[in-house]
Amino acid sequence: MQSIDVDVEKKEILKRYRNLLKSCRKVLNKGDKQLIRLAFDTALEAHKEMRRKSGEPYIYHPIAVAQIVTEEIGLGPTSVVAALLHDVVEDTDMTIGDIERLFGKKVAVIIDGLTKISGVFDHSSSLQAENFRKMLLTLSDDVRVILIKLADRLHNMRTLDSMLREKQMKIASETAYLYAPLAHRLGLYAVKTELDDLALKYMEPEVYRTIAYKLQQTKRERNRFINEFIEPISKELSKQGLKFEIKGRPKSIHSIWNKMKKQTVSFEEIYDLFAIRIIIESPAEIEKSDCWKVYSIVTDFYLPNPDRLRDWISTPKANGYESLHTTVMGPKGTWVEVQIRTQRMDEIAEKGYAAHWKYKESTIENALDEWIHKIREILENPESNALDFIDDFKLNLFSEEMFVFTPKGELRTLPANSTTLDFAFDIHSDIGYKCIGAKVNHKLVPLSYQLHSGDQVEIITSGKQTPKDDWLNFVTTAKAKSRIKLALKEEKRKIAEEGREILEKKFKSLKINLNTANINELLAFYRVPTSLDLYYKIAKGLVDLVDLKEFIIEKSNIKPKNTPKIESNSLEDMVKLARGSSEMLIIGENMDKMDYKLSSCCNPIPGDDVFGFITVNDGIKIHRTNCPSAMQLMSNFAYRIVKAKWTSQKEIAFLAGVRLTGIDEVGVVNNITRVISSQLKVNMRSISIDSNDGVFDGTIMLFVHNTDHLTTLMKQLEKVNGILTVHRIDVN
Ligand code: MN
Repeated sequence: MQSIDVDVEKKEILKRYRNLLKSCRKVLNKGDKQLIRLAFDTALEAHKEMRRKSGEPYIYHPIAVAQIVTEEIGLGPTSVVAALLHDVVEDTDMTIGDIERLFGKKVAVIIDGLTKISGVFDHSSSLQAENFRKMLLTLSDDVRVILIKLADRLHNMRTLDSMLREKQMKIASETAYLYAPLAHRLGLYAVKTELDDLALKYMEPEVYRTIAYKLQQTKRERNRFINEFIEPISKELSKQGLKFEIKGRPKSIHSIWNKMKKQTVSFEEIYDLFAIRIIIESPAEIEKSDCWKVYSIVTDFYLPNPDRLRDWISTPKANGYESLHTTVMGPKGTWVEVQIRTQRMDEIAEKGYAAHWKYKESTIENALDEWIHKIREILENPESNALDFIDDFKLNLFSEEMFVFTPKGELRTLPANSTTLDFAFDIHSDIGYKCIGAKVNHKLVPLSYQLHSGDQVEIITSGKQTPKDDWLNFVTTAKAKSRIKLALKEEKRKIAEEGREILEKKFKSLKINLNTANINELLAFYRVPTSLDLYYKIAKGLVDLVDLKEFIIEKSNIKPKNTPKIESNSLEDMVKLARGSSEMLIIGENMDKMDYKLSSCCNPIPGDDVFGFITVNDGIKIHRTNCPSAMQLMSNFAYRIVKAKWTSQKEIAFLAGVRLTGIDEVGVVNNITRVISSQLKVNMRSISIDSNDGVFDGTIMLFVHNTDHLTTLMKQLEKVNGILTVHRIDVN
């Protein structure tokens, strides 16, 4: 065992604490210092026996979180106190009551919001989803809960190295799934970028390392280019008497990787690896015109791409982001993104929510308030389950925005891809329920019409309209979704009531009791999950009650058995079986015991990093760890994940997909198929090639043994004349 020098550690703890005090000195009022000291002493005492996975004293963590809270997010003393205490109730004997006694109601409410729900969870939902939900619920009480949670997560991600691989995957996928988008939505760009990068580092270490290395390798060349690019602009800005700073920063590893995936291009093919940011000092009254002045200077030297102008100064994003973006043609024939903003805008972009308060800009506060107001509305919907809720919530987290107008010219912000029906629900739920269409820019359009920024929308309603099932297919906003689901459920309940009456009459005439036992048997007989579904189907005539006689006869012949326990139990058994038999699921070995399938969403093959996911009805599904749906599964259902790896495979073939692009020369398809089938003796399942003006884009599904086999094949394909790119794809 490693010996620990207690005195050295004590000194280090105090040093870190003093550092924290230094970072928040500017925001401290009288009395704050004592309260922070009390919080520090309380946390130190409560955590004194605990150590982090790395072996360090636990107290390092709350101190670091408090430091992030004040230094990187810009919050005040109450948040520093809460950050120091954030793990005390969850991990030690202290209670919320103790906290309230010592630090007051406000701090206690925040700590309560930061404490995870514990205890038994049922299988219909997910503990993680419930915890996310709880956290988001507190957003409407006190946004500081979320901000401290983000600081907590950021520090955990920065120190993820000492965790087990499995834990790393779970924490990293949660981060990418929920926390990074949340940071984005709250306008914390720096935090969001770091969270995304760190998540990628653990989820796809190979990718992360490669891109980081290539960025390092190209740094010099990039800097030379940036200097050359900004030189004439700098000169002119100085000449015009503007005070400014120009930064040329590479984009984050995560955003570069996203581009590579989305456009299936290689690192070398990405032209905008960096963005130029011009930050000016300008008084509030003339900042807008100053920014446009800079724009004019930039475009005097370089031609702008007319499709890439973004003006978030006239209409800031809902999270408060303000900036002017343009993409111009640089000296070497490459596009360069230029962001123009003032110091105030820059601080808001980096620090988000907290910086808004500093500047007290009314329009920004309104935009953020409006967003929080919308979240509150979604939260008020009592019926949605936690998983649905997280999904709906995420929809609104991710979406880009557009601006549309009411007939009176009032501006409304909606997520991109919103339809007229979303707009109707945005105005008022009752208008949504009664909506039959709309006039967009004075033209008649249907409910499903996709709106565009700048549209003017007038909703048409009818008293006869009622919500329909298929409405869910074309709404985007969480509000519209949750309201429609609620209305449909209400409707179903009404119809089911009629069904119940029909069944009662029928039972009466057959002289049977309508009790729970009988209903349960009926459910099994007709194979429907709930009594509500049964009544509904009866009312709609979807089950034939003539069968009821048959059921009665069957019933009198057969002794009542125990109603078979379904789903939740078997799921639990599966988890036990999969976990208990061995630590790791070995694919290809003793699989007769375990029912497993390779998932078709990512088509894993031997050699891929994989995990097993226990499904409710379909055994264990094997996914690649970089499968598009893996993140969602791992963050919401970590308890159903089993570690898995491949056994050395014999000659079994697995399905994989490859995408090819290139120049359509004569015979290119022939050459492709020859390489695949004769040279490499690989079986193809399908090949589809789209050719357009001499350029082709093709997808091939083929059977390979493992990743090495696939890599060899892809290398061979790259050599075929006319082929420009070869990439592996997920979808089948
Ligand atoms: Mn923590």
